[in-house]
Amino acid sequence: MDTNQLLIENLASTSQITIRKFKSLGINTYSDLLDYFPYRYENYSLLTQIDKVQIEETVTIQGKIIEAKNQYTRSRITIQKIIVQDKTGSIEINWFNQPYLIRLFTIGETISVAGLVKQFGSKLTLEPKEYEIGAKRIHTGRIVPIYSEKKGLSSKTIREKIYAILNTTAAIVCRVAETLPKEIITFNSLIDKNKAYQQIHFPDDLEIAKRARERLAFDELFNLQLANNLIKKEWKKEKVENMFRVGTVHELSVQKFISDLPFILTRDQKKVIDEIINDLKKTVPMNRFLQGDVGSGKTVVAAVVCYLSFLNGYQSIIMAPTEILAQQHYQTFVKIFVRNGLKPFPNITLVTSSTKKNTPCTTLHHPTTPYDIIIGTHALLSQKLKFEKVGLVIIDEQHRFGVNQRAILKEKALNSHLLTMTATPIPRTVALTLYGELDLSYITEMPKGRQVIKTFLIPKEKRGVGYHWIKNQIKEKQAQVFIICPLIEESESETLKSIKAAKIEYESLKNIFSEFKVGLLHGKIKAEEKNQVMIDFKNNKINILVSTSIVEVGIDIPGATIMIIEGAERFGLAQLHQLRGRIGRSDKQSYCLLFSENMSDKTTKRLNFFCKNNLGIKLAEFDLINRGAGNIFGTEQHGFINLKIASLTDYELINKAKKAVEYFVGKYEIEDWKELNRGVEKYRGRQISRD
Ligand code: ADP
Ligand code: MG
Repeated sequence: MDTNQLLIENLASTSQITIRKFKSLGINTYSDLLDYFPYRYENYSLLTQIDKVQIEETVTIQGKIIEAKNQYTRSRITIQKIIVQDKTGSIEINWFNQPYLIRLFTIGETISVAGLVKQFGSKLTLEPKEYEIGAKRIHTGRIVPIYSEKKGLSSKTIREKIYAILNTTAAIVCRVAETLPKEIITFNSLIDKNKAYQQIHFPDDLEIAKRARERLAFDELFNLQLANNLIKKEWKKEKVENMFRVGTVHELSVQKFISDLPFILTRDQKKVIDEIINDLKKTVPMNRFLQGDVGSGKTVVAAVVCYLSFLNGYQSIIMAPTEILAQQHYQTFVKIFVRNGLKPFPNITLVTSSTKKNTPCTTLHHPTTPYDIIIGTHALLSQKLKFEKVGLVIIDEQHRFGVNQRAILKEKALNSHLLTMTATPIPRTVALTLYGELDLSYITEMPKGRQVIKTFLIPKEKRGVGYHWIKNQIKEKQAQVFIICPLIEESESETLKSIKAAKIEYESLKNIFSEFKVGLLHGKIKAEEKNQVMIDFKNNKINILVSTSIVEVGIDIPGATIMIIEGAERFGLAQLHQLRGRIGRSDKQSYCLLFSENMSDKTTKRLNFFCKNNLGIKLAEFDLINRGAGNIFGTEQHGFINLKIASLTDYELINKAKKAVEYFVGKYEIEDWKELNRGVEKYRGRQISRD
C-alpha cells in the first residue's frame, strides 16, 4: 500500500469530526496529510533532569505528577498548578485559566512538559509550552513542527496524526516512494524522498530539516516544470483549425491600421505584435502570455490582432473578468475601428449577463449571428452561445478566471489561437516557472508623454490639508478623483461589509466635498447603473468617485488624476499598483495619496517603497520576498498555482529543477515513471486542455 491509496478515514483513534475537518482542507489521503508541511519548528529537544534546569532555558522535563490542583485568585484568574517529580527533584508548573486541564492530570501518571524555566521568588518554575501525558515524545523532547491551524484543527492534532502515519504505518506498510531517477538525486545532492518526509516533519536537527525542505521544494518545482514541458510538447503536435493567412496584403493592411491609430505604438507594443503575427503564421495554435504593466497599452495590441483575424474572415473572442471592463473594451474597440474608417467594418458585439436588456447587443439572440469580434465577460461561456468560425481567443486579466472557465472557453473555440494578457507584474523567472508551457511576451515600456505618478503617504493629522488640496485641484484644474475604500474582508470579493463601509464613506465624503458631485461604485450596484456611473465619470459629470477596489482591474479614465487609497496597508503592493494604475493615464501630472490607520515601521517601510517605485515588477518582487506569492495576486488566486513548499524567489533551485527537467525529457519517457507521473499529472490537469 502506498500513502496515496490510504484514505484519511483509516487513521487510528481519530474522531469523525477531525476526519471531516481534514477533508474540508482537501486532505483525503495519507499522502495529502504528509504534504501539509510545518511552517516553523520549536526546539524542545533539550531533555533535562529537574535538578539541572537553568533559568531562561527552554527544556523538556519528564516525571510523575505528584500534585495537581486548581487555584482561584481574587482577580478571577484561575491557576492550574501541578508538581512534577523525577529522580533528581521536583518542579512546579502553572497554566492559567484552563480549569479543564486538571482533570487530565492524574496523580502518579508520567508527563513530559516542554517550557521555559523561570525564577519565581526563590524557586524555579517551568512556564509550559507543550505537554504530553505518558512516556511518548511527540510534542516534547524533540524539535517540534508547528503547522498552520485551519478549520479548527490544532497544530497539535495535525502533528499527532502525521506522527502516526510516519511512525506506525509508514515504517511497515507505506514508505513514501522515490520519484526521481538516481542520477538526478545524486547530481543535485538531494536527500532520499522518504527521509525528506520524515525529516521535514520530525527533524533530528534544523540543518537536516532545511535539506528536507530543499528536497521537497525541488520536487515541486521539478514536477511543475516537467508538466509544463510535456504540455508544450503535446500542443506542438496540434493543428490550427482555422488557419490564418498572413501575406503581404494583410501585413500592409495591418500596417495601415496601426498608422491610422491616434498615437504611435511603443517599441514594445510593435515587438509584441510582431511576435504574435509570427505565431499566427504557423500551423500550431498560438499560446502566448502577454504581460504588460498597467497602462502599457495591451488593449490596442489586442485590437490589432483581432483586426488580422477579421481580415482572415474569422471570429475573435475577448473575455474580460468584469462587466465594466468588458463594456470598456467594447467601447474602445468600436472607437478604434470607427476612427480608422475601416471598410468593411467588423461587426462588434458585447455579451455580458445584462446585455440582453442593453442597447448595443440586443441582436445577439441568434447564437450563430456572424459577429466578427465578440467581447464579453464569463457570460461568453453560456451553453447557449455557439461560435462559428473562431480564429482567435483573447483572455484579459487571465488570472482572474478559474481554470474551468478558461477550459470551457477553449472548448468552444477548439484549436484556435490563444492570447492571454495580464497586468499582474509577474517577474520573468516566476512566469517561466508557472507558465513555462506558454510563450511569453513582455511590454515594459510606457507610452510616450506619461508622467510618473507622484505618490505620498499621508500622516493622519494631514488628512484635512489633503482634502483642502484636492478641492483646489478640482476647482482649478478640473481634476477628477478616485477614493478607494479599504479592503475589509480577506477576500476581495464584494462582501456586504465592505459595501456598507463604502456607503458610509460615501455619505461622509458627500458632506466634506459638498460643492462637488460625488459618485459611488461597488460590486452590488446594478450593471446599468454601474455603466452610467462610469460614463458620467468619464464625461466629468462626476468629480469624485468613491469606490471599493473593484476599479482595480483595467478601467481607463484618462481625466482622473488623483487617487486616495484608504487603508492602504491592507493591500498587497501589486494590488496597490493596479489601483494606482487607474490614474496617470494622460499627459497630465497625477497624484496618489495613501492613507493608513496602521503606521507600524513595517507598514511604513512597505508603503514608502511603494511611493518611490513605479515599476510593477519591482513592487511584486518586494512583496514576493517580504510577504509571499499570495500578495502578487491579491487573495483571489484563481488559476494561480499555490506552491506548497517551494519559493518563487529561490531562483537557484528553480534553475536546478529546470535543468533536471531538460535532462529527464532527453532521456526518459514519463510513462515509465509511475510515481513521478502522479505528481506531474496534478499540474497537467490545471492546464487548459486542448483536446
Ligand atoms: P493596459 O495595458 O493596462 O490594459 P490600456 O490598453 O487600457 O492599458 O491603455 C492605457 C491607455 O493608454 C489607453 O487610454 C490607451 O488608449 C493609451 N495608449 C495605448 N497605447 C498608447 C501609445 N502607444 N501611445 C499613447 N497612448 C497609448
Ligand atoms: Mg487592460
